Amino acid sequence: MTSPVLPSHGRVRPLGLTQVSLTGGFWGGRQTVNATATLAHCESWMERLGWLANFDRVADGSTGPDRPGWSFSDSEVYKLLEALSWESARSGDPEAESAIKRLTARVARAQDPDGYLNTCFGHPGRPPRYSDLEMGHELYNTGHLLQAAVARLRTAGDDDLVRVARRAADHVCRTFGPGGIDGVCGHPEIEVGLAEFGRALGEPRYVEQARLFIERRGHGRLKDIPLGRAYFQDDIPVREADVWRGHAVRALYLAAASVDVAVETRDSGLLDAVRRQWERSVSRRTYVTGGMGSRHQDEGFGEDWELPPDRAYCETCAGVASIMVSWRLYLATGDVRYTDLIERTLYNVVATSPSADGRAFFYANPLHQRAAGRPADPDEVSPRAEAGVRAAWFDVSCCPTNVARTLAGLHTYLATVDDDGLQLLQYAAGEIRAELPGGRPVALDVETAYPDDGTVRVRVVAGPDEPWTLSLRVPGWADGATLTEGGRTTTVAPGLTRVRRAFAAGDEIVLELPVTPRFTWPDPRIDAVRGCVAVERGPEVLCVESADLPSPGVLDALTIDAGSAPRAVPGGAVVRGRARGVPDQAWSYRDRPLSGDGGDWFDVPLRPYHAWARRGPSSMRIFLPIADPHPPTQEGA
Ligand SMILES: [Zn+2]
Repeated sequence: MTSPVLPSHGRVRPLGLTQVSLTGGFWGGRQTVNATATLAHCESWMERLGWLANFDRVADGSTGPDRPGWSFSDSEVYKLLEALSWESARSGDPEAESAIKRLTARVARAQDPDGYLNTCFGHPGRPPRYSDLEMGHELYNTGHLLQAAVARLRTAGDDDLVRVARRAADHVCRTFGPGGIDGVCGHPEIEVGLAEFGRALGEPRYVEQARLFIERRGHGRLKDIPLGRAYFQDDIPVREADVWRGHAVRALYLAAASVDVAVETRDSGLLDAVRRQWERSVSRRTYVTGGMGSRHQDEGFGEDWELPPDRAYCETCAGVASIMVSWRLYLATGDVRYTDLIERTLYNVVATSPSADGRAFFYANPLHQRAAGRPADPDEVSPRAEAGVRAAWFDVSCCPTNVARTLAGLHTYLATVDDDGLQLLQYAAGEIRAELPGGRPVALDVETAYPDDGTVRVRVVAGPDEPWTLSLRVPGWADGATLTEGGRTTTVAPGLTRVRRAFAAGDEIVLELPVTPRFTWPDPRIDAVRGCVAVERGPEVLCVESADLPSPGVLDALTIDAGSAPRAVPGGAVVRGRARGVPDQAWSYRDRPLSGDGGDWFDVPLRPYHAWARRGPSSMRIFLPIADPHPPTQEGA
């Protein structure tokens, strides 16, 4: 089976990479751009910046103090190798295959005789091996190597990349196993890599090493730092923690690995801990976009309700990592609320990052951009994560390759099977050619223009003669959804809706999801957006951009009539709003409230957030202040 995540057991089972295909539409288009532009874009930047030559220098013995790139630049090569492996299997693209071969050859030459593989440490002119577990990212890099090898192993078999990874994993087990260094990596990732590599090879000792790393964490083995040990989740053991905290990507990679280990070792206490952390973190520390991470200083989670829209960090990688966690929890439990969050995060974080041409990316994904960015030079490396525009590449460039590997295998998130039938989870134009348990083939075609249109047609092309269950996820936001099958239309509630019967070829089931634009009110405890409202359309969060307003200043002064529902227009929605006349003053504070909203009402256009700044630099906001229907009368504005 060719899938990124294959637990040995669980409530539901994923489908393979070649059992589902996208035939166009929102995600099919993005997957094509990823294949035809992003993959080559990533390789060319890594070549240009010397991140690939770092491997050659280790092989040639010419390392020195002047190594380009951060300590984690090796991991970008591995994430690209993972993306290329999924892409090669998906499309059979010969260019992807030859890129895998040429990158693997350079990586393999840099491996030391004992299996150690890292271009930053352990060679002449470089710091010694494992001399900076807090910030050195050595094991983190190896984790990504293992994930790339899993992709290769499951799609092409035991090749050079897999052999390199096996020797690297053995080196890690010897060095950090019982009796070895009693430490953990400052950036979790080795755990999720080892766990899946162990599954893919049927080698429990790799899962066991992942378990050791997870159990060691949270006991203060890493040095304290100004950001505190919570930064790398070394403050509280995973099974005792109630909420995600510290660096968001670290917290989420660790959570994903913890689910893997919990499932493989049948450790319900560990699984329950991650489920508990998901509940609290999703209900109190997650943006409406699904984005995670409120703090720039440590790229981290804030306290409960600390969700400022303009200071939202919402790193693209944290979105990818959140999907990794939710997918594993769904496979273990069959609870489709996890796939609701996957949908939200896919449309509003993962889809937001890349430009239409797949050659520029957002790193941070704020929900409010106060000042438009400067046009980005496609030939320049962005030194900063936050710029208000998509950048071709970053000094810290973790996000583009994370988007690439996610999009290359995106269709594996569409559906699962269990003993009773098939579950359709995400809606995209595509084909499913899978097997129900007992080797019974089932073929479905999905026709839809979702999310622009809420109609999803599922046609049975072939299937078993006896009854089986086709289940469709009704998203949590989809109040009033209907299902038509066998000539009957019924209203279906959010959750998994099941149709059990014998299907004949040609049978059609039609799900109607209400994608009418709707207001979304935040919990009043999220102080930063109290008195504001957002607009969503289906799974998409919408936003207002300055480019659609009479002048940029209008965005700051905008208030919305929350009493009249948003109206659908092609490509988005409009709401009724006006620009409050706010006089500039020498001091921003006064002894009474500013009264009145002022200005004439006009239609305020909203567009999908994932498309913001595609027309050029712009200011933008998702949460819109609600016009006061009863303004105080003390003072005219
Ligand atoms: Zn990133």
